[in-house]
Amino acid sequence: MKIYINQEFCSGCGICIEFCPKKILIPSSSLSKKGVFPPVVNKIEECTECRICELYCSDFAIAVEGDNDE
Ligand code: SF4
Ligand code: SF4
Repeated sequence: MKIYINQEFCSGCGICIEFCPKKILIPSSSLSKKGVFPPVVNKIEECTECRICELYCSDFAIAVEGDNDE
């Protein structure tokens, strides 16, 4: 599986970081071109593919690609 984060769309709101039940997402230590700290993926092996991050992102900046997706 893979989690895609679009740095051009991300507003750095941190909602995905806040709501991920497994704390897979952490703030980047470097600024994006937009001047925000986008999330980065940490411990992807613990991701349950619940897609809460994708659902809550109002900027459509994060996408979860599961292993069993068509
Ligand atoms: S899919 Fe669920 S567990 Fe995985 S990063 Fe998103 S919110 Fe966290
Ligand atoms: S919820 Fe979306 S816009 Fe907010 S930090 Fe996460 S990826 Fe970026």
